[in-house]
Amino acid sequence: MAIAEEDIERVRASVSIVDVVQQYVALRKTGRNWVGLCPFHAEKSGSFNVREETARYKCFGCQAGGDVFKFVQEIEHVDFVTAVEKLAGRAGITLTYTSGGESQDRQRRKKLVGAMEAAVEWYHERLLSSPDAREARDYLRQRGLSGDVARRFKLGYAPKDWDLLSTHLKSLKIPDDVLVDVGLSFINSRQRPTDAFRDRIMFPIFTDTGEPVAFGGRILPGSSDPAKYKNSSETKIYFKSKTLYGMNWAKNDVVKADQVIVCEGYTDVIGFHRSGVTRAVATCGTALTEDHVRILKRFASRVVLAFDADAAGQGAAEKFYEWEKKYQVQVSVARFPDGKDPGDLANSDPAALAAAIDEAMPFLGFRVNRVVGGKPLRSPEDRARVAEQAMRVINEHPDVNVRKLYAGEVATRVGIPVADLSRLAEKRNERPEVRVSSTREMGVAENAEFVAITLLLQAWDDIAPWLIEELFDSEVSRRAFLALAAASQVESKNLVDTALELADPEVRELLERAAVADVEVEPMSVAFDLIGVAVRRVLSRRTGVTDADAIRADREARVRLEELEDSRLAPAASEALLMWIAERGTRAGGGGDSRD
Ligand SMILES: [Zn+2]
Repeated sequence: MAIAEEDIERVRASVSIVDVVQQYVALRKTGRNWVGLCPFHAEKSGSFNVREETARYKCFGCQAGGDVFKFVQEIEHVDFVTAVEKLAGRAGITLTYTSGGESQDRQRRKKLVGAMEAAVEWYHERLLSSPDAREARDYLRQRGLSGDVARRFKLGYAPKDWDLLSTHLKSLKIPDDVLVDVGLSFINSRQRPTDAFRDRIMFPIFTDTGEPVAFGGRILPGSSDPAKYKNSSETKIYFKSKTLYGMNWAKNDVVKADQVIVCEGYTDVIGFHRSGVTRAVATCGTALTEDHVRILKRFASRVVLAFDADAAGQGAAEKFYEWEKKYQVQVSVARFPDGKDPGDLANSDPAALAAAIDEAMPFLGFRVNRVVGGKPLRSPEDRARVAEQAMRVINEHPDVNVRKLYAGEVATRVGIPVADLSRLAEKRNERPEVRVSSTREMGVAENAEFVAITLLLQAWDDIAPWLIEELFDSEVSRRAFLALAAASQVESKNLVDTALELADPEVRELLERAAVADVEVEPMSVAFDLIGVAVRRVLSRRTGVTDADAIRADREARVRLEELEDSRLAPAASEALLMWIAERGTRAGGGGDSRD
């Protein structure tokens, strides 16, 4: 099925590309062009040019460009035919279709969507003005979901009566079989259409192009109905595993931010929007599926889970890792204070919602943190036990490099030689068993730092470019690093001997140990590990930062921190993070407060 060529040209001739673009982008006239901030890539100065005479757009930043149909396709994520139909609708042009007009499926789909549109409007009107919806209005007002919010999200109310909606839709000449097919009505034993939803607050569910295809209905408090939410069952136009509630409102921001937030409920999505975070979607009463991820991938590469992903357990974790690899997305997890959900927080503490997204952790990091964070680590046995638990979680991850990075981090945090855990990370399927002998005990931070010093002696060129003084938190390691750095400037002699000459007794002792230490780890992974630990350390010490540039830089650092987990992005992320660390230092007076 295609649209007649002359109709396409008629549509092109009757819409103004500047008008169309201006619905999405603020444009100002500059010479013969209209210029604005590109909607397809993040930028601070306008590279996005639109020219009315040629009816084309072009971005000199990301090279996006094309005609008005291409623009609608790209910004709305729709196919060519849909883009033409949308613009034809705006221009009031009726399209003729070649090859015998619209297919039967398409005609049927239009009828079903039409019935849903009528139902959305009717339920919505009912909520806004019907006397029997007073209780629903009161309830929504208490939760901050009235007025503009109700209008924006087209919230509705399904009355208690058994056939008011069906009767209304029949009066619009919508046949019974359409009402049944779309799940709005069922036929009762007396062959009369009966409303499927009764006495519920209605959340219409739209496709990403804005067509209503289903409803989620919530009971009012005090209702005797045991099902808090009732969702439309699957129909010819509604597929649960392929539908994300809120994508129609979120997609522009999702694309712009290259990030999508996945919630559990409709009110969570609305809560994010109310708090100014407009890139949230929700699954419709199902777990996140591979189909969902495939759809999300079309819009963004960073997926933040805004629900308790850990509760889903190991099976879910393995699926997430598989999808990360298969679809090249990064999955992270947001944590909310006091176990509150985003819908609640939007009322009590909207700023906390945005902060939770900024601070979302990579999925594996989140799980490791649950194991390591807050556990007492007094005895070697404590440390071995926590390390074992952490390694079990880490070894669920399929990528050996990722496992080793996290193993290094756990080793540093728990105070166990990096090489020991790194070995366990390599042999993924064995049950991890960590032995800590008291003679090998070392300080927590010193450990990864000691390995780095050892590697400097063994493979200077591989690791030295990635190290700076500020990465070393232990005073002795730092002095050892500085001694080696100074020694490397002296040509003629061997590095170890020169450094030993420059060193004080304490450093000499450390260097002598390092010179004979037996470590087998990838130098880069140790460097990235140290950088990650140092960034977290600096961030944790930077409280009360109010300067806007500093906040932005810190946020950037958190994003880079995630990129450190990705072996392709890690080198570039490391360079940026090293600059960030160097600017702030890790010691007192380095820009943050130094309460410890
Ligand atoms: Zn661009």
